[in-house]
Amino acid sequence: MGELGEAQQRGAACVWCAQTLTAETALDLGERRIKVLDGDITAFPRGCRPCTADAAYRALMDHAPRCEQCVDDAGRCDTGVALRRLMREGRRR
Ligand SMILES: [Zn+2]
Ligand SMILES: [Zn+2]
Repeated sequence: MGELGEAQQRGAACVWCAQTLTAETALDLGERRIKVLDGDITAFPRGCRPCTADAAYRALMDHAPRCEQCVDDAGRCDTGVALRRLMREGRRR
C-alpha cells in the first residue's frame, strides 16, 4: 500500500480503487500500520469486494508457495486462512 487518502485511511473508501464504501460493499481488512510522511499510523483500510477478492488472490499466490505451513496444511496458516476468507467473501454477491 502506498499513499492513501484520508478517506481511505478511515476505511471510507476502497484502498485500491478509491470508490466510496458502504457497510454493504466494504470488506474489512483489519487494522494495519501504514507508513505516512511523518511516521507510522494505524489505519483501518477497507476494500470494495472485487478489489479485495483480487488482491487476496494475488497475495495468496505470492504467499502460499513460500509458506511452509500452507504447503503442509493450509488450514493451519492464519495468513492463508484469512486470505481465502477474503477471497470467498469478495466474490459473494
Ligand atoms: Zn475497489
Ligand atoms: Zn501460509
